[in-house]
Amino acid sequence: MYKLNCIGILTSGGDAPGMNAAIRSVTRAAIFNHIRVKAIYRGYKGLITGEIKEFHTEDVSNIIQRGGTILKTARCQEFTTPEGRKIAYETMVREEIDALVVIGGDGTFTGARIFAQEYNVPIVGLPGTIDNDLCGTDSTIGYDTALNTIVEAVDKIRDTANSHERLFFVEVMGRDAGFLALNSALASGAEAAIIPEEQTNEEQLEELIKNGFRKSKNSSIVIVAEGGGGATALAERMKRDYPTFDARVTILGHLQRGGTPTAYDRIIASRMGVAAIDALLDEQRSVMVGLVHDELVLVPFTKAIKDDKPINKSKIGVLQILSI
Ligand code: ATP
Repeated sequence: MYKLNCIGILTSGGDAPGMNAAIRSVTRAAIFNHIRVKAIYRGYKGLITGEIKEFHTEDVSNIIQRGGTILKTARCQEFTTPEGRKIAYETMVREEIDALVVIGGDGTFTGARIFAQEYNVPIVGLPGTIDNDLCGTDSTIGYDTALNTIVEAVDKIRDTANSHERLFFVEVMGRDAGFLALNSALASGAEAAIIPEEQTNEEQLEELIKNGFRKSKNSSIVIVAEGGGGATALAERMKRDYPTFDARVTILGHLQRGGTPTAYDRIIASRMGVAAIDALLDEQRSVMVGLVHDELVLVPFTKAIKDDKPINKSKIGVLQILSI
């Protein structure tokens, strides 16, 4: 018979605001159901090194409002090898951990899927990444906070851009997914967004210029998703081809990952954490908890990590209309 006496919980990959709210929720929901909780530090690395501590309800007090992750996170090369995963499994056996809840992005779920297959370990995932690039969920934990952080930063850049009549390229995270770039552009009233789901950066810039972007305004903000040379390459190109334009670059970088999570991220993290324990009790495995139209859903890891989460391109049209 399936027994669930003890779960392990870890955060892995890039940190995201709201991970702590998820840790709190998973821990409390497990204890509510008389399941012990072992906190695994530094992602899969902690499973290999045995950096593990039993959590009680008070260990997750006063963390719902904190950014980052109290469990720390890491990228763990060793877990990508069969030898590393064998050690990880031996740790689970030694610590009497029956199942795992992993909070992270597509890499984390890829590792979890392989590990679950090799050792028949029940694993449920929570989507914790600012990029919102996981399929089967409208939003990932951390995305809303990062989006709001970007919008706040762009509002400030707008003040100086207007004063000096400059063009700003603001680079945001999202190498493979333009959710942050496109939605922050809409929310901050930026003139355009350059996103990986469209043509190359160069072609998108070309189109912008063709559409009268140069004439339209003397101060403009273009949000650029990182990757493909990012904002720096675009600004250099502008300077070369249109030297009269005063193009500047701001790379928001890691500040996008930090900060206190928004109410939305805390709410979805709390709901998803409870759902993860329910899913394990229901003998679900190798699934991610997602949220679709405000309802919780379970999505197989294989589906969640498909690399083509569609972005709603009608928003590009809205952006174009509103930037005249
Ligand atoms: P983010 O989207 O924020 O980058 P992520 O979960 O995608 O988060 P990764 O660094 O890609 O972050 O993955 C986290 C960890 O998952 C890796 O450090 C590694 O330990 C494990 N992992 C990733 N890919 C694999 C794989 N193919 N096999 C086994 N483990 C993997």
